[in-house]
Amino acid sequence: MESVEVFTSEGKGRGLKAQKEFLPGDVIFAEPAYAAVVFDSLTHVICHTCFKRQERLHRCGQCKFAYYCDRTCQRAAWLNHKNECSAIKRHGKAPTENIRWELAPRAGAHQQAWGWWERMGRPLGESQMVRPRINCNAFTLSDQRGLQAVGVGIFPNLCQANHDCWPNCTVIFNNGNHEAVRSMFHTQMRIELRALSKISPGDELTVSYVDFLNVSEERRRQLKKQYYFDCTCEHCKKQIKDDLMLAVKEGDHKPSAETVKEVIQFSKDTLEKINKARLEGVYHEVVKLCRDCLKKQEPVLGDTNLYLLRILSIASEVLSYLQMFEEAADYAKRMVDGYMKIYHPNNAQLGMAVMRAGVTHWHAGLIEAGHGMICKAYAILLITHGPSHPITKDLEVMRVQTEMELRMFQQNEFMYYKMREAALKNQKIEVMPEPSNETAPSLFHKKE
Ligand SMILES: [Zn+2]
Ligand SMILES: [Zn+2]
Ligand SMILES: [Zn+2]
Repeated sequence: MESVEVFTSEGKGRGLKAQKEFLPGDVIFAEPAYAAVVFDSLTHVICHTCFKRQERLHRCGQCKFAYYCDRTCQRAAWLNHKNECSAIKRHGKAPTENIRWELAPRAGAHQQAWGWWERMGRPLGESQMVRPRINCNAFTLSDQRGLQAVGVGIFPNLCQANHDCWPNCTVIFNNGNHEAVRSMFHTQMRIELRALSKISPGDELTVSYVDFLNVSEERRRQLKKQYYFDCTCEHCKKQIKDDLMLAVKEGDHKPSAETVKEVIQFSKDTLEKINKARLEGVYHEVVKLCRDCLKKQEPVLGDTNLYLLRILSIASEVLSYLQMFEEAADYAKRMVDGYMKIYHPNNAQLGMAVMRAGVTHWHAGLIEAGHGMICKAYAILLITHGPSHPITKDLEVMRVQTEMELRMFQQNEFMYYKMREAALKNQKIEVMPEPSNETAPSLFHKKE
C-alpha cells in the first residue's frame, strides 16, 4: 500500500489514489484475506486455505470438517482454525456459512465467540462483542479456473476502492502458487489490484462492481439495488457505448421501430425459456431456442446488440459442451467481434470470452483462428490476471501447443489433418465444462 493513498472522494466517501505512475498489468497492491469462508455446499471439495478445487483433499483429523490440499495449506490455516476445530469437535457438527462468516473476523475474541456458538448455536450479537471496524462488501472468491464462486472474503484495503463502470484497475483473486517457494506467504491466497491502463500520480483508483455488458440505465439500476448508490461515472453520465449495445440494422433494410420492439420482446422471452431449459439440463432444447432466436434477430439487430450477443454466447457455450465445435466456433467468433467493440481492451471478461472462443476454434480444427484468439486472450490475461495465475498458465500451455500445430498445418496441411484425425480417434477431446448460469462469478458479494 506504499504507493497508494486513502483520501475523501467527493460524494463517494473514502477512496484510493495513486501516488506514483502505474502501467497496464502492474500490481498496485496485493493483500491476503482478513477473513474468508468456503460456502456450505462446497466445504468438502474446496481447500479451506487456498480455495482451490482439488481431486483429493485431506480432511482435518480432529473436526473432520475442514479440508486442505496438503500439510502446507493445513499448517497455514491452523492459527485461525484452532478454536473452530475444537468447538466443532465438541459440538459434533459445523456451523453454517453465515455463522462461520460472523465468527471468522473476530480473531481476537475467537475462543469466546466459538464458546458462545457452542452454547447458543449462534454467534454473539453486535452488543455483546466488539465488531471489527470494517464496513464493506465481501469479495467473491472463485476456484483456480475462475469457473465457480466458492466462498467469500474480506479485504480491508481493497474495499476502499470506489466503483467506475470503465475502471482503471481490476481485482483478481489468486489462489496462490504451490510450486513456488513454500513459505507461508507464497501459498496464501490473496487478491491483487492490477492496473488496466496508464495511471498517473493523483488519479483515483477504481474497479467495477458490475459487468460492463449492460446499457447504462441497467447498470445503474443494478448498482443501486445491490450497492445502494447512483453511478455518476463518465460512461453512465454520457451513456457511452449504449448506442452499440442497442444497435439495429442500418441501410436499405432498416427495420421499423415496431419490428425492433417485437424482436427484443421475442429475445427476452427466449432468454427466459433458455434459462429454464438450462436448469433442467435439456441442452438440445437450448440449442433449438438459440437457433430460432438468431433467425429472428439477424435481419433486425446490429452486430453489437446485447440481445444478439447474449444468444451467441449461450449458443457457442452449449454447442461446445455438446462437442458441435464448428457451429459453436461460428457463433463464438461473432460474439468476440462484438465484445471487442464494447469492452475496454484490457477487460477480464473479454479475455475469458476470447479464450473460450479460441479453444472452441482449436477443437473445431480451425487452427489459424484458434491460435490467433488464444494469443489475444493470453495478452489480455497477462494484464488482468498476471503471469502466475493458473488460468494464464493454462493459456500459455495452449499457446505453445497451438503454435506447434499451426506450424505443422502451414508446412503440410494434409499431414496436419491426418494427424488430427488419428489423435481424435485415439483420444477423446477433453469435455468442456458443463454450461452453468454462473458464467462469471460477480466480483463483490453482498451479504445480507
Ligand atoms: Zn490449499
Ligand atoms: Zn479441524
Ligand atoms: Zn457507471
